[in-house]
Amino acid sequence: MSAHSISAPGGKKTARLLDEDSWRGRNSRVKQAFANDVLNSLDAQIAVLDAHGTIVKVNEEWKRFARENGSDDEAFYVGASYLAVCENAIVQAKDPTAAMTLDGMRELLQGKRNSFSVEYPCHSPHQQRWFIANITRFSHQGATYLAVVHADITARKLAENALRDAETTLRGVLEALPVGVWIMNRNGQIVHGNAASQRIWAGARYVGPEQFGEYKGWWLDSGRLIAAEEWAAARAISKGETSIDEEVRIQCFDGSSKIILNSAIPLRDDAGNLNGAVIVNQDITLRKRAEEDVRKANASADAMNRELQQVLAREQRNARTDDLTGLNNRRHFFELGKQLFAVAQRYGTPFSIVMFDLDYFKRINDLYGHQMGDTILKRVATIAQERVRHADVLARYGGEEFIVALPNVGAHEALAAAENIRRHVAAFREIAGDSELSATISAGVAEIVPGDDTLDYLIKRADQALYAAKNAGRNRCQIFSPGR
Ligand code: GH3
Ligand code: MG
Ligand code: MG
Repeated sequence: MSAHSISAPGGKKTARLLDEDSWRGRNSRVKQAFANDVLNSLDAQIAVLDAHGTIVKVNEEWKRFARENGSDDEAFYVGASYLAVCENAIVQAKDPTAAMTLDGMRELLQGKRNSFSVEYPCHSPHQQRWFIANITRFSHQGATYLAVVHADITARKLAENALRDAETTLRGVLEALPVGVWIMNRNGQIVHGNAASQRIWAGARYVGPEQFGEYKGWWLDSGRLIAAEEWAAARAISKGETSIDEEVRIQCFDGSSKIILNSAIPLRDDAGNLNGAVIVNQDITLRKRAEEDVRKANASADAMNRELQQVLAREQRNARTDDLTGLNNRRHFFELGKQLFAVAQRYGTPFSIVMFDLDYFKRINDLYGHQMGDTILKRVATIAQERVRHADVLARYGGEEFIVALPNVGAHEALAAAENIRRHVAAFREIAGDSELSATISAGVAEIVPGDDTLDYLIKRADQALYAAKNAGRNRCQIFSPGR
């Protein structure tokens, strides 16, 4: 059998292919026609060169292309030297790809390589175009030939250029952003980190998720170390979780520490599968430091304020009290006494004043010293303080003179109060060296009467009663009576 058949399903014969035996039997004209048909059926522009670089065969596509590009001068047709065309392009157009093509073809002809390809732009006045030339060496009946296959790759080049432009724009945007942006692939490997991100971390570490532990960070609220799988980036690529502005303290690659807002947004492919993540970092270290400074300043201002208030309260207390005895001083007595007097006056309620004075106090000073005198004064103050009611106002009125204002108390009840103090003063003993020291007081009592218009007047009557008590022999208490 000199040819075999290809059978379509069902066994019907559809075409006949030549096998090698029958091919050998064909004459060269038939073979030539077959080769031409093959060459002309191809999209590419094809030329065959002999060992001198002379074009010995071209396909229809080659001729059409040459015509369309204004090369009717037959320079590109059979018989023309392709090498000469290249040389011409080098000289006239200073075309670097022509030089590469020429060098490549020489190497092919010298047997240094078997094939090569070169891509080059070849723009027409109306259109940007790119071409690829694949040049292959082959031999036929002992002679060397080159096959030049020239094809339009404009569509591919335009797509590549568009992609590159888009990438350039994207990168430009990324680099211009004031926040750090990391792009991670589905394996958690960082494929890009912009300038700001590297500035924040003081460098970049392009690791996979199993090494996320190398990123040192602490949750700002708890101070707890962030585990590798807890990073927002890890959660984004493994679970598709979106995290926005998590405040974390990081340890940068230079060992410094920063506070950042860390966000992670998962990326998905067209089918919705997780495909990586975008991590956005914002350095808020300075802002946090400023907030901390303000907080500290506020805290110290608060502390200072508290201290000032304590000082103020102490000063106010000091302004009201007598240093030696701790009782109200004379000035504060008048502030309080006047109010009590006014209330009694307005509502007609009882109100009394007791004034008392140490008897022969000068002698105590003279015999035992001024310091012992002070001790006695304090002792008397304490005794009086323990005897008066909460509502009464006790004060040191002058040197060794004391005063008590007793609201809602008439003269007789006030006398009883004075008597109570007198008895307790008379009863105490103070050790002074070898001897025991005692003291007595005399007291005068006066009660408010209708028509009294000032506290001073009431005090004056109490003072007169005190004077009377002194005159009557001391260590006694007396109610004011106009006759005495
Ligand atoms: P009388 O019974 O008449 O009141 O006699 P007196 O000696 O107590 O009265 P006089 O007015 O002569 O003396 C009062 C003395 O009280 C004089 C003064 O040195 C003394 N004195 C006043 N204030 C203080 C004080 O704060 N400490 C001491 N240790 N003595 C004081
Ligand atoms: Mg006196
Ligand atoms: Mg006295």
